[in-house]
Amino acid sequence: MEKILLLAHTQADGSLPKAAYESLNAALTLATDLGGAAVTVGLIGADVQAAADSITACGATNILAVSGEDFAASRYSTDTVAVEALVKEAAPTLVLAPTSSRFSRCLPGAAYRCDGRIETHIADIKVNDGAVQVQRWYYRQRMVATLARAQRPWFLVVDSGVFEPWQGTAGSAEVQALEVAIGDDCRRTKVIGVQTPDSDTQTIRPEAEVLFVAGAGWTKKQPDGQVHIKKAEELILGFINSGKASLGSSKSLVDQSSEGGEVISFMSHLNQVGQTGSTPRHPKGLATCCHGEEPHTVGWRFIGERRAISLDPNCGWAQGKADVLYVADAFEVIAKVNALLA
Ligand SMILES: Cc1cc2nc3c(=O)[nH]c(=O)nc-3n(C[C@H](O)[C@H](O)[C@H](O)COP(=O)(O)OP(=O)(O)OC[C@H]3O[C@@H](n4cnc5c(N)ncnc54)[C@H](O)[C@@H]3O)c2cc1C
Repeated sequence: MEKILLLAHTQADGSLPKAAYESLNAALTLATDLGGAAVTVGLIGADVQAAADSITACGATNILAVSGEDFAASRYSTDTVAVEALVKEAAPTLVLAPTSSRFSRCLPGAAYRCDGRIETHIADIKVNDGAVQVQRWYYRQRMVATLARAQRPWFLVVDSGVFEPWQGTAGSAEVQALEVAIGDDCRRTKVIGVQTPDSDTQTIRPEAEVLFVAGAGWTKKQPDGQVHIKKAEELILGFINSGKASLGSSKSLVDQSSEGGEVISFMSHLNQVGQTGSTPRHPKGLATCCHGEEPHTVGWRFIGERRAISLDPNCGWAQGKADVLYVADAFEVIAKVNALLA
């Protein structure tokens, strides 16, 4: 019989990130599909009580914790030791955790120390004839594979946006704290501060309802024979700020900075969506001044509803890539939408 351990790190304020609730839901659903497998939760962080209280009604058999200042920040040495201790105590056959930079860094090493195997970017988990099978995408989301393994423990790092977050009433949880000895060699890496961009330059918002993609058309000559970069910047920023959207880009637009062309100042390669960019998950997406070529639209695999605004009625979006294509001038349409949102 499979036995599940769900791992989660707490955030700086002691809460759990949304992705942790999604992985918890994945673990509980899997336990049900397996005919009632036991689920243990393993929390790691400075102080985990508030996080444990928030999931006390989830039906987990028990909640284990490795906590204290040594485990507050992301650090490979302490995070692997914490995971190892939790796995040793819970003796699971399956270990689920949300995809985060912190788990992505420490779990491969922790799986090795536990003589386990690991699969990352899990996009689905199913039980088929009593056997656990997982899905993940390859070749930039063009091929999907279904995988099974005999080796246990099997670590499954679940992508965010795949499962609905678990919801339940908070209460007062009983937490079993594990004592984990940390040597000074584990403390050599120290977090001395966090640098984040100003909030108005933070344009990538994974939790946003809408992905707004800007294409190279924003910087091209317009019907009046002129380019309007400043106007484009104003319209794009206006939309993403009042619509609380996340900003994506085509490759052509972000490449313009390295090609010496006039550029959208707040756009970087981090915004690029597509084959050599990101594959974000948002319920809705709106592409503007973008041609909708395959290397770009392959990054839209997980966008729920796709719309595009292009002057070209024969662009890629018109050829089955979008649910709705508006053949229109994006400068005019976005100006009108921004006026409505203001
Ligand atoms: C190996 C490889 C990997 C690649 N990876 C990626 C990737 O990860 N992501 C990516 O995006 N691309 C990628 N590409 C590039 C991709 O093939 C396209 O070249 C790129 O996506 C085109 O960008 P674009 O649509 O913004 O620009 P363009 O092709 O220049 O299209 C601009 C569009 O804007 C429209 N337009 C202009 N003005 C307006 C207006 N006022 N209103 C409405 N529409 C207007 C035009 O009609 C045109 O359709 C890759 C290519 C290769 C070969």
